[in-house]
Amino acid sequence: MITVLRIGHRPFRDKRITTHVSLVSRAFGADNVVVDEKDEILEETVNKVVKNFGGNFEIETGIEWKKYFKNFNGIKVNLTMYGINVDNRIDEIIEKTKNNDMVILVGAEKVPMDAYLMADYNIAIANQPHSEVSALAIFLDRYFKGKELQKTYEGRMNIIPMEHGKSVKFIPGEEESMKLLYNENADEKIIKHVQTVYKLAMSIGRYANADLKLIAAGSLLHDIGRTKTNGIKHATAGAQILRDKNIDDRVVNIVERHTGAGITKEEAVKLGLPERDYIPETLEEKIVAQADNLVAGDRLISLDTTLKNYNEKKLYDAAKKIKELNDELSLICGKNLDEIEKEVNNL
Ligand code: SAM
Repeated sequence: MITVLRIGHRPFRDKRITTHVSLVSRAFGADNVVVDEKDEILEETVNKVVKNFGGNFEIETGIEWKKYFKNFNGIKVNLTMYGINVDNRIDEIIEKTKNNDMVILVGAEKVPMDAYLMADYNIAIANQPHSEVSALAIFLDRYFKGKELQKTYEGRMNIIPMEHGKSVKFIPGEEESMKLLYNENADEKIIKHVQTVYKLAMSIGRYANADLKLIAAGSLLHDIGRTKTNGIKHATAGAQILRDKNIDDRVVNIVERHTGAGITKEEAVKLGLPERDYIPETLEEKIVAQADNLVAGDRLISLDTTLKNYNEKKLYDAAKKIKELNDELSLICGKNLDEIEKEVNNL
């Protein structure tokens, strides 16, 4: 666990600098930042970045820094231009923090002598004055040997690296998903249906420990294509609407692969769909597809009723796949999906 301790923060003067200290802490591999002065706006800004871009980074403001630094149970580093060159101590610090937490102190203006005396290491990133933001970034980069730059996050917004231009893909939240539906003129029938699928899918998702952000967006948006066509092509039509809006591929795939328990490449060709597999692959894709199989209109229906409906239409293969998917998910949830449906019905 790596904590950055920011002291000397003045909410009005250091707003951007302390935000940058916090964002550098997060992006370069620290787990949390603690700040001496209480600053709710700063907390909000940093929490918003975490919510949008992912990870478990935490911020706390308004702590008594001397007490915190003194009582910290682990290795204490003070970053200062007066210290020992980082390259002469970094291997020792890496070794010592294999089994210990570390706190890294950075200051704003003058840093009190107590910090120098309490620290296990006073470390300089060159013995020249510069900035807490650069000092912290270089220290963490030396500490992680550059590996922190490869770390990926699963946020609501994900940057797609590009040679030129900018591309950000989104996982819409519940409210944004509903807005997308209304913007496409989804009617009452679609809205009620997706909300029922959402309820069931979220419950299954909780039991299965699935990614609920993906399930929420995927279940609410799975039938957005019905605003264009009600036939079998509604799933690909929906996926296209979402691709055009830069929605995250994981959500797009939930939408594209939600029909029945999936459509194989051969079936797709017969149905006039672009030639590829539409089989749900990820846990979240499977959950939304199956929740949809267990909802008729805005009503939950049992697996038996679903299978009966498919068999009556002589869709025996599809019925078999739905049953298998049900068994697979029930096993993952540790509870039969029928039971989960009953719980949702009693809510
Ligand atoms: N003169 C101040 C002092 O009492 O040390 C330094 C203030 S400086 C603007 C703010 C912070 O930047 C310092 O507390 C330190 O954490 C960091 N910093 C600036 N230059 C640094 C350097 N060469 N090496 C390590 N940290 C540095």
